[in-house]
Amino acid sequence: MSAWETVKKRVKIAVVRRKLLSTQIPEDCEHPLEEWMALKAKDTFRRSPELRDAIGARKLDFVGPDEFREYQLFRVREQMRYTEANSIFYKDRYRKAGVAPEDIRAYEDLTKIPLTTPDEMAVDPMHFLCVSMTKTERAFSTTGTSGVRKRVFYSREDLLSKIDIISSALMNVGMQKGEVLHIMFPTVGAWDPSLMMAGACMVAGYGSSSSASVDIEEQMRTIRENKSSYIIGLPSFIHRVTVLAGEKVDLRQLGIKKLICAAEPLSESMRNTLQNAWGCPVLDVWGMTEFGLACAIECDERNGLHTDEANLLFEVIDPETEEHVAEGERGELIVTSLNAEATPIIRYRTRDISSLYPSTCDCGTRFNHRIGKPGGRLDLMTKIGLGQKVYPLLFDEAVLKFPEVISYQVLIDRQNYKDRLTFCIEAQDTDKALQERILDSVLAIAEIEEGIDEELLESPRIRFRDVGSREYVVKAKVIVDQRENYD
Ligand SMILES: [Zn+2]
Repeated sequence: MSAWETVKKRVKIAVVRRKLLSTQIPEDCEHPLEEWMALKAKDTFRRSPELRDAIGARKLDFVGPDEFREYQLFRVREQMRYTEANSIFYKDRYRKAGVAPEDIRAYEDLTKIPLTTPDEMAVDPMHFLCVSMTKTERAFSTTGTSGVRKRVFYSREDLLSKIDIISSALMNVGMQKGEVLHIMFPTVGAWDPSLMMAGACMVAGYGSSSSASVDIEEQMRTIRENKSSYIIGLPSFIHRVTVLAGEKVDLRQLGIKKLICAAEPLSESMRNTLQNAWGCPVLDVWGMTEFGLACAIECDERNGLHTDEANLLFEVIDPETEEHVAEGERGELIVTSLNAEATPIIRYRTRDISSLYPSTCDCGTRFNHRIGKPGGRLDLMTKIGLGQKVYPLLFDEAVLKFPEVISYQVLIDRQNYKDRLTFCIEAQDTDKALQERILDSVLAIAEIEEGIDEELLESPRIRFRDVGSREYVVKAKVIVDQRENYD
């Protein structure tokens, strides 16, 4: 890079930084994420007479639960007006439902707006696009775990707002300016979170290093050379690298302060294995391509994930009746974008099972809601025996608690008119004893125990695979259903 290009790049970063609210969070702030949300609400308050009227004040010094809720509802009305004017899909949608932005005055009013499904988004992504193609900076295609192909666009403003939330979330995790984040994602062609993370670090004033190698020596060398003290990555990938490292190396001596798991559900079994191996707390992040990489992140309490409520509004509904469920009750997670420019999505069915927690947390936040760890995706759920619902996270808890296990897959077929589960396990140091311990653990899953009691389920089988016999696959299917004529 020439000297001139370096100067140009620096100026560009400086301009971008000025636009970010996360740069205004004081270094000694106790709850950076919530502080950032308050800054966002205050910024909107200053610009909007409608929000000032809704809150009934001329000045906003303090943001509490009521003021923040008004900010969110105002943003929902604004996104409705914006999508009504710019999105073919939503214009038609609101008209048919007979719902107008002015109808949304309370949280309960949200159910007046019809839900948007992943299938609807797959039909024609252009019907959701609110800006001209020339204004889009990035497009993400995702088939996700549901198999439906969707395309989501991001404008420059959208990308900046993602950087802003990632930066505040990293501050919330405890990162200080100048510290280095090590990024551990396997190389993926179309979807490269490493690039986005590295960009966010640069703008936010953090260093970053990255490696996509499964070789632990290579990972350790990169971490040491860059003096990285935090790690973010794909849990199944980090888990694989960790287990393969085995007893040979002491990962604790690297002095990693925290490990953040993103883009895949993190089971408690996997969390324990990683915490023991790296000797630091392991935090969970939840995100989805439709809304960005960091939509919710755990605090040190590790009891639910704090949500990015400045950019997203979260609801939990009964997937059948589509009504809101009570606080703490499980249901389908519904997300509405509040500040999106290119592809805003209103009341999106994530197909993820979760719950909304009370707004106060033991870490001391005052209005920021948490969601329960999303995991049991509706699309990945399958029924066994008499209709017991099983999903990957359930098996993760039972199988990944053994530190020898690297990965596994469950095949479901039918034998003697009963469902049969075969666990194909990739593990280090396999022997009869490990096989029996895994079997006991699987048999203790209530859904499996019930199926066997009702004589609708064969006893599960445990089979070992050679290590490395299966290449690492991003978002590999955990449950493979081989039953025929299954509804
Ligand atoms: Zn908390």
